[in-house]
Amino acid sequence: MKGSLLYEGKAKKVYHVEGQDQQLILSYKNDATAFNGKKKAEFEGKGRLNNLITSKIFQYLHAQGISSHFIKALNDTEQQVYKTEIIPLEVVIRNIATGSITKRLGIEEKTVFLQPIIELFYKDDSLDDPLINDEHAKLLANVTEYDLDDLKIEALKINSLLKKVFLEAGLTLVDFKLEFGRLPDGSIVLADEISPDTCRLWDTKTGEKMDKDVFRNDIGDLIEVYQTILNRLEEKVCVK
Ligand code: 5GP
Repeated sequence: MKGSLLYEGKAKKVYHVEGQDQQLILSYKNDATAFNGKKKAEFEGKGRLNNLITSKIFQYLHAQGISSHFIKALNDTEQQVYKTEIIPLEVVIRNIATGSITKRLGIEEKTVFLQPIIELFYKDDSLDDPLINDEHAKLLANVTEYDLDDLKIEALKINSLLKKVFLEAGLTLVDFKLEFGRLPDGSIVLADEISPDTCRLWDTKTGEKMDKDVFRNDIGDLIEVYQTILNRLEEKVCVK
């Protein structure tokens, strides 16, 4: 049973679970934000789509041996998860150059990386989530060298699995952001969400952008695009 509100973020509300202090309920909101909250809008139905897409992907990853905070989808907009202490890092994996890396390093748009590139960003809105290195992460995010190695190995495994599953759905996984959390026993698991809000997905045939860049760059109907992603995943991804 849903308990009191613990926290409200940009994309989700987090609730306690009555009588169960190791679990939480995440309620996906219809709000969209970009550029560290400088651009904002609300899209009816977005919370439902991101909850259902994330649930499907986390179920698929679980079936492939990836541990995460996900327990189950409760309804269209809510899911039950294990409570973790979120590690304040955004782990970004890039397969193709676009977005911030092209501007920061002058890499040509659409350059395909022979090996995926992993970047760490420090989750801090007041600093605009800066790019950091491992030494900074150890200092700021309460992680050890071993934790970072672990996170990177897990992120690469998730990349391989996601690339495959999205390809089956006719989508190229360009880049994405992961967050991890620590369980009470100290182990680190995948947390947060995996959705078109956190991944860049391009239609494999047409190259059309099918993710939050539609909102960031005002280039289409976000709900229509997110619904297409859910439909394709439901059609192609079978999770027992
Ligand atoms: P970039 O660094 O190019 O802006 O983003 C790289 C990838 O990480 C993109 O797929 C983007 O959606 C995701 N990403 C990076 N930072 C954030 C963030 O703060 N929120 C969300 N939802 N996604 C992010």
